[in-house]
Formats: sequence, structure tokens, C-alpha cells
Amino acid sequence: MQVTDELIRGVVQQVLAQVRNGNGKAQAASNGHGKGTARGVFNDVGEAVAAASAAQKRFGACGLNDRRAAIARIRQICSEQAEQLGREELEETKIGRLAAKIEKLKVIADRIPGVEFLRTDAFSGENGIALQEYAPFGVIGVITPVTHSLPTLACNAINMLAGGNAIVCNPHPGGARIACKGVRLFNQAIFDAIGIDNLITIIETPTLESAQAIFDHRDVRMLCVTGGPAVGRAALRSPKRAVVAGPGNPPVVVDETADLDNAARSIVVGGGYDNNLLCIGEKEVFAVASIFDELMNAMTAHKGVRLNAGQIDALTKAAFTADDKKHLHVNKDFIGQDPARMAEMAGFSVPAETELLFGETDESNPFVEHEQMMPFVPFVRTADVDSAIALAKKYEHGFKHTSIIHSRNLETITHMGREMDTTLFVQNGPSTAGVGLGGEGYLSFSIATPTGEGVTTPLTFTRQRRSTTVGALRVL
Ligand code: NAD
Repeated sequence: MQVTDELIRGVVQQVLAQVRNGNGKAQAASNGHGKGTARGVFNDVGEAVAAASAAQKRFGACGLNDRRAAIARIRQICSEQAEQLGREELEETKIGRLAAKIEKLKVIADRIPGVEFLRTDAFSGENGIALQEYAPFGVIGVITPVTHSLPTLACNAINMLAGGNAIVCNPHPGGARIACKGVRLFNQAIFDAIGIDNLITIIETPTLESAQAIFDHRDVRMLCVTGGPAVGRAALRSPKRAVVAGPGNPPVVVDETADLDNAARSIVVGGGYDNNLLCIGEKEVFAVASIFDELMNAMTAHKGVRLNAGQIDALTKAAFTADDKKHLHVNKDFIGQDPARMAEMAGFSVPAETELLFGETDESNPFVEHEQMMPFVPFVRTADVDSAIALAKKYEHGFKHTSIIHSRNLETITHMGREMDTTLFVQNGPSTAGVGLGGEGYLSFSIATPTGEGVTTPLTFTRQRRSTTVGALRVL
């Protein structure tokens, strides 16, 4: 490693940040709150960014092996401590299901791409050679959702560190405790492996103001925001380059040629996963009339429980609330709850082992229009597949996020793919196949939709740089 002024400045800044951390820890210990700010956890955005900047300068001077080592530690912690961390995430957020919380951490071990995704493009000709390579941005501001707090942070961290960056994260307040715990564990292990602390920093008590302070900080070079419409809009208003993984409302179309048993199984797997918290999860089904009843029967063979009209009415009244202007909003008490708990809250009961609630509605039911994030999926009967696709397009709301079809007709599949124009388009499987879980391809918990980067990778978080040698080094 070459010792430069910049490197020395970086080390000094990092030591100062660590001294401040140490003081914070001592103060916290003495006042009994136990609110340490060690190992990446800060209360002040300026301090977090300064520590991450210092860490990134040192990291930038390291080779790819140090990046590999840092990422390997994150993967190892997610895999080895998945049960404990998943349990703590569920206890804190109180949404979703334990098995999914654990699985979402376990898959981080081998499904999120790392350093191997970086590549060098080369051009060679009579004028010499040029090399195009992928360089870090620096410090990246990260916003994470409550639906997968630690998995999103760990996934972003692997992608971003692979690209040579450092992170300052404003987690969702509802999942901040587990995110901070993860950051402490990751930083400690990375420090033990390569001697650099604070590559991942986080705000311990996040607020909208601290998010805005990250958006506005001059040393934050890029943003990656995963969440609903409000935060997506806020990031898009920022003058910085923003990667926005925004909301969805994924529709499913089932036509008369589909394998109905596979369609039903897939809808239960995808729509029931973590109680339908996934942004890619099946949220509403449009099925053609000729197979509608058979599809509904097939659902019950896969631990789906069909609700009657009265139960759907009771659930709808309980799961949505109207504001002063009579606009409906999702009742947050229902988000990510178990099917049996949802039923209980709506005044009826279903077996405890129910995977997914479903039932016939018309398109005006709010479960069709809203991204409800609950394990109840409305099924709408349509005259033919063209009207099913038209409704799917209408209720995806132009988010261009995810759509799913069950069909054996290639023309129908092609037509829907073109019409929907979604980032993920899954055929004949559960939505989770679209991110490599049961389908081909790699995984990310941040699928950039309005900004177009798609399923994010280390390359998403890099700058292209070209080095040109004129008239030499072409050795052919
Ligand atoms: P949310 O929008 O309530 O919160 C997301 C994050 O944004 C949180 O950290 C929150 O504190 C912050 N936030 C909200 N408004 C903000 C503002 N005005 N300025 C700055 N920060 C703000 O979403 P959630 O309930 O945590 O997560 C669910 C949503 O996220 C769904 O809409 C889902 O589709 C989406 N999501 C998308 C992806 C994807 O990859 N595209 C992945 C996961 C979740």
C-alpha cells in the first residue's frame, strides 16, 4: 500500500471517529443507557459520514482480496447467526414469519453477488489499448425498509463493499435495533479480518430528518433507497444519483392453458412468503372464467383457505381505514400478520397452519388496488385472458415492478410480457423465482424499478472509468 497524504488524513479521521465512539460508549455506560456508538453505530449523520469516508479511503487503497474478506464475514454472520438474528428481527418488527426471516438471512450466504461481478472491459486496436473498469463512488447513503431490515442492509453492504464503497444507513425506525446489531457484528468481524472499522455506519435513532441529512450531505456520493412511494419520491428529488427500489403491486394472470395445480402452489408459495411482505409477492390474481373454479379448488390443496363473501367483507372493513376525504389506507395492524391472526382480528377463525387466505372479489375490492402486504389474495374472474392482462396492467399502477403469468401459450406469455413492461416477469412459478429462489439468476433485496437498474449488483454501485494507452501495449 502506498502511503499518501490522503491516506494519512483518512487514518487520522478514523482514529478521531473511534475516539469519539469510545467516549460515547463510556458516557453511555456511565449513564446506564448502554447506548454505545461503537462499530459503526452513530447518532449523528455528520459523524457517521466522516467515519465511513475515512474507512472508505483506506478500503479504496486495499486490493480485491480485502474486499472478498470483508464480504465473506458478512455472509458468514448472516448464515451462522440466521436463527438468532431472524428471531430478533421478528420480535422487533412484529411482522412476517420466523421461517422466512431466517431463510432471508441464510440465502445471503451464497445468492448475493460479490467481487466476482466486477469486470474489466478491454478495447484493443491499431491505436493501442483502452481498459474500462468499475470504480467505487465513495460513501453511499442507504435507506432500508421495515419489511426486511437486516437482509436489505446485509445485501446492500455486500454489493456496495464489493464495489469498494462504504455505507451510511438510515434504517426504518421499526427495524433499527436489529439493523444496528447487524452493523456492530459486521464491523467487528470486518475489523478483525482487515483492520478497518466503520465501513458500514448506521444511525441508531433514525428520523426523516436524519434521512434528509444523509440525502443532503456533500460527502455522500450516491443513494440507494428501498421502500414505498414517499421515500422513493424524496430520493428522486435529491440532486444526487439515486438508485430507487420502489413499491409494487404484483398481479398474477392465470389462463385456460395453465397447469392449475402448479399455479395454485406457486401463488401460495409467493403470496404466503413472510406473510406477503415481499415487494415481488403475489398481491392479486386475474383468472379466466373457464378455469376459475378449478383454480380456486386447487388453492385449498396447498394450505390456502378460501373465504366466503361475508368473511371477505369483514376482513376488508377491518384491514382498510378511510381518511377524511374517504380515501382508503391499509390498516398497519394487519400488515404481515399470520392468516389466522388476520382472521381473528376480522372476527372469524381459520386453522393455525393456514398459509394464505384467498377468495373471489371484483376489481373494486381495495385488496386489488392497494399493495396490502397481507396474506390475503383476491381472485378476480375475467371473461378471457386479454381482459385479465388489461386488469393486471391497470392494477400494477405503472410501477413496472413485478408481474406473473401461469400459461402454456407462448403468444399469451409474450403479449403479457410486452404489455406489462415490468422489471421482473415470472412465468409458471412463484414470484420468488424472479430473484433466483427457485428460478435462475442472482438475488438482491433491492430491485431498482423507477430508476431502471433492476435487480441490483455490485456494478450498480460503481462508476465506469477508462484508461487509454495511445499507440502501445497492443502486443499482437
Ligand atoms: P416505507 O416507505 O414506509 O419506509 C421505507 C424507508 O423509507 C424507511 O427507512 C422509512 O423510514 C423511510 N422513509 C419513508 N418516508 C421517507 C421520506 N419522506 N424521506 C426519507 N425517508 C423516508 O416502506 P416499508 O413499509 O418499510 O417497506 C415496504 C415498502 O417498500 C413497500 O412499498 C415495498 O414494495 C417496498 N419495497 C421495495 C423493494 C424493492 O426492491 N423494490 C424491496 C423491499 C420493499
